[in-house]
Amino acid sequence: MYFYGISGSNKIGGSSYFIKMGDRKFLLDMGLDPNLPGSYPKYENLYRKKLLTSMGDLDGVIISHAHLDHIGSLPYMLKEGKKVPILTSNATKILGKTLLLSAPKESDEYIEIFKKDEIESIFSLINSTEGVIEKDYQINFYDSGHILGSKMTEIITKDERVLYTGDFSLKNMITAKKIPLASIQSPDILLCEGTNLTKNMNSYINERLGFIRYANKVVANGVLLIPAFALGRTQEVVCLLKNAMKSQLLKRVPIYVDGLSIEISQLYNQLGINVLDEDVKIASKRFYETMDNSPKIIVCSSGMLLQNSKSYLYAQKVLKNENNSVTFVGYQDKKTPGFKLLYQKKFNFKANINRFSFSAHGDENEIFQLIDRLKPKKVVFLHRNLKEDEERELEKRLVKIFGKNIKFYFPKDGEELNL
Ligand SMILES: [Zn+2]
Ligand SMILES: [Zn+2]
Repeated sequence: MYFYGISGSNKIGGSSYFIKMGDRKFLLDMGLDPNLPGSYPKYENLYRKKLLTSMGDLDGVIISHAHLDHIGSLPYMLKEGKKVPILTSNATKILGKTLLLSAPKESDEYIEIFKKDEIESIFSLINSTEGVIEKDYQINFYDSGHILGSKMTEIITKDERVLYTGDFSLKNMITAKKIPLASIQSPDILLCEGTNLTKNMNSYINERLGFIRYANKVVANGVLLIPAFALGRTQEVVCLLKNAMKSQLLKRVPIYVDGLSIEISQLYNQLGINVLDEDVKIASKRFYETMDNSPKIIVCSSGMLLQNSKSYLYAQKVLKNENNSVTFVGYQDKKTPGFKLLYQKKFNFKANINRFSFSAHGDENEIFQLIDRLKPKKVVFLHRNLKEDEERELEKRLVKIFGKNIKFYFPKDGEELNL
């Protein structure tokens, strides 16, 4: 297999990888990265390197899941690539389209990169949600335990078997299906995400119990505002809160959802995961305007309090009272108001600020477990954010644990590998 990392190899964001197996050429994910010029990966490099003459030369585009860093630049395929099969899960097709259409409305910090009709036409072209069997290759999807609809992709030719994990987790999420590890055969090459490489997270159960205990303290007297990513995190947190109320670990108070989190939660309901029900209300404009400090929980996007998103607007009110809390449940980018509030305490506030880890990515332990179970011959780490010395250190540990039978690769963006 030939591998060329266009973007998202040694960074998190704007994932897109070109692979060639025999004569077959595939693109794995087409993400967005607001930090790149034009916000999308440099697909032109594929022409410059003579890997393609146009996007139309591809045999397929595979989208692992609906987060914008994996699906956000899919409309680029309208440029000469309209006839290329786009493969993804049904849930990703539905969630991804809504996210792409609605994200620019969410906050001042999202830019509109593609037009509404471009987004609509590319999503109408998605032709398989199940994988494919062709004469000389086969593509299978497996649940990846990250968010609703997230998939690992297996590509098999007569010569080799490749598994691309996309974003994955081995944890038992409420809103994402577990990886069916027993039914996946050992790949020759594992293209593995490494968001949490070198991190060992607090036990999943302890973190969630700690979160519920804390929530219970806050709602004894005040408002708990939880800024959460619209897709995935909102639904997982809401379902956890509901379960805790049912099992009486958490006092029953009203739960409200607002922002883009509403639209995405409605789609979860349509896709068979009950997020919104009689216990979880959709916040109205009037609710926001007349909101007081009586006990309640508000879960809403954006997760990083982006300027003028709903969570940002609620925070202005919630932060004024010492009985309230703003509790983060996801990653905060350095430039965001969320980061400034949580780590630099940059605003005037009386409320309590807290954070809990709900990572939907496997930590180092889980990544090692996956490698141990799948026993690939080669592992390529992508979607990772490590310094070079950390990588060397990690490589040494990997060799110690797995011996010399597995080879490990840490390509940089723009690097190619012949594997
Ligand atoms: Zn993701
Ligand atoms: Zn990702």
